[in-house]
Amino acid sequence: MPVMLPPAAGYLWKSRRRLSASGLVTWERCPRQWFYSRRIGVAQPQNPAMLVGHVAEEAVGSLLMERLRADGGPMPVRSAWVAYSREQDGLDAPAATGEVSITDLDSIRAWFDAVLPSVVDETLRRLAQDWDTVVWRAGGTDIADVGAERMSLLINGGLELQLEEVNACLEDDGGPHLSAYRESGDPFGVPAPCWDEEPVKPGEQASRSAAAGFQKEGSVSLWEAWEVARPWVKDPRVAEPQRQFHPDGWAAGELDMVQRWDGSVRIVDLKASAGTSGFSAGLPIQIRFYQWLWDVTRDTDARPSDGVDAGQVSGLEGWYLAGPYRKQVELLPPDELAEEAARWKAVHETMTQSGLHPTDVPLADPSPWVDHYPGGEPRPVTNVAAAKERTCRMCNAAAFCDAAPVAARAAGLAEVVPPEIPSADPGELSRALEPKTPCIRIRDIPRRLHVRGRLSGHWGPMANHYGEHVHGASVAVGDASVVVEEMGADSFGELPELEDAVLLDAAPGQWRRMPRLYLDEHSSVKPASEAPEGLEFTRLGLIPTKASVSGLVVSRGANSGVGVTGRPWSMQTCHLWDGNDVIEVVAFGSAVTHTFTELKVGDRLRVLAAELGWRDGVPQLRIDQRTTRLEVKRDG
Ligand code: SF4
Repeated sequence: MPVMLPPAAGYLWKSRRRLSASGLVTWERCPRQWFYSRRIGVAQPQNPAMLVGHVAEEAVGSLLMERLRADGGPMPVRSAWVAYSREQDGLDAPAATGEVSITDLDSIRAWFDAVLPSVVDETLRRLAQDWDTVVWRAGGTDIADVGAERMSLLINGGLELQLEEVNACLEDDGGPHLSAYRESGDPFGVPAPCWDEEPVKPGEQASRSAAAGFQKEGSVSLWEAWEVARPWVKDPRVAEPQRQFHPDGWAAGELDMVQRWDGSVRIVDLKASAGTSGFSAGLPIQIRFYQWLWDVTRDTDARPSDGVDAGQVSGLEGWYLAGPYRKQVELLPPDELAEEAARWKAVHETMTQSGLHPTDVPLADPSPWVDHYPGGEPRPVTNVAAAKERTCRMCNAAAFCDAAPVAARAAGLAEVVPPEIPSADPGELSRALEPKTPCIRIRDIPRRLHVRGRLSGHWGPMANHYGEHVHGASVAVGDASVVVEEMGADSFGELPELEDAVLLDAAPGQWRRMPRLYLDEHSSVKPASEAPEGLEFTRLGLIPTKASVSGLVVSRGANSGVGVTGRPWSMQTCHLWDGNDVIEVVAFGSAVTHTFTELKVGDRLRVLAAELGWRDGVPQLRIDQRTTRLEVKRDG
């Protein structure tokens, strides 16, 4: 729910530094797994099921944004979402395929049945389009494995559960907010999105008036019950992040749905499954995190004001669409929620510290893998050790995590090591991956240094290459000067003007062939008179700017979007493992060469003279199209 813009206001890129529900869920599964997947960004091969959730959830939410005809006339069989989604891709909106008269709940169901084929077709088109952009696919999978039947089951599941809400609203004669709706429309500061209303941006106070179908008095009508029971869902027309941001900025969460018609608040998470897998263990963690975020974002001045008292959070629900099943998660009482929040803050601090040094990785502590009954009820675990090993078997870091059990590690290695290297022999593997000059070990890449000079010419915030707004300045000694920049939005803040300053624990690097120093929360800037005794300072001309490394490609990824300036950006990534450590290698825009695009997991790669950069406190190598050389050795 878009309570407000992020505290730093203005950047659209999701900050990997904030604690998110999914990050917390991964941490609880295994802190070391969080480190590899979230801090270093190691991806996993994509399969079609991974793409289904997002599209199915958007389709369900968007159908709930429909408004019934106020004059009681027949509803054209046409989905506003299908029209919108196709128009976004420059395609024609399909014409209505018929009409359905809405007289009762069954007729609403009949309208859904009639419109569903076109919605399912659109989800399949979107899935095929998304699949085309996936650079690392799980072997033997194809998007054609997701059929119309599956999408139809999921979307229908969401509609069925919402019709239960409408029915309950009818039985409760519209609930306590009906008169407010009749007077001036949706009374909430962040209203439920509707195709017939303008989209509302985060932090914007909506201006709504009662739609034509509201009555002056009398019992609630079916039309009114549909309107009043309409939940808040993510509006696909809004490009800004529709999240709840902790007022201090260190945590954020993106809800799927909020039900508010009964005088209280129920937070709902949509799941495109029946909830039987071990991943269902994450729902209580995720949704209680949202319960807490809801509470801590109520008092902020930036929040648009409600025209009614929305009430307290009364329920936390997981809607497993393949059923459908409504899973109720017990609310945490205030004292336990406060304890949990304190623990989450400590987790966030540990996350922030991790990775400063290659050996500084969080604990390898896999939780047991728990299967669930349909509907997300956990099955008993009889063998905890075996269940923990299963978590490692499911982990995309098992190949290079030294704490992975032997069988899990062997299975992980089999996925990434080409057959010509005998992965079962650790000595052979380590010899095959040993760096040869000029490549160095990943752990020997210079990380932090101290610099002394005149700090001036501060600027910003200005967009960096990730589209984040960062502050910067220059540090000068004599005629030589180097740009100093925040590593990411808000990771350091404003820089002071100082005639004689020391920059401590700055990260060295280069951008567009110019040396650059990056600052984050581990860095500090002070007057030289306050610098600790005995520090060694690096001369500006000796700042390390490049690195050459080699290893096995263990992950591939790609991303694209539109930055704050409105300019599109794109990037591709791979992760290299040198037998000990893993590092991300990134190519932005035109640096995404044919060679980079063709990189595959299992390739042996030498990256020569890459620009040294930083992301979230850990080093990242960036391809300079002109000076970086890629040497690929591929099996077969
Ligand atoms: S392999 Fe096991 S111990 Fe290692 S990161 Fe993965 S889940 Fe954690």
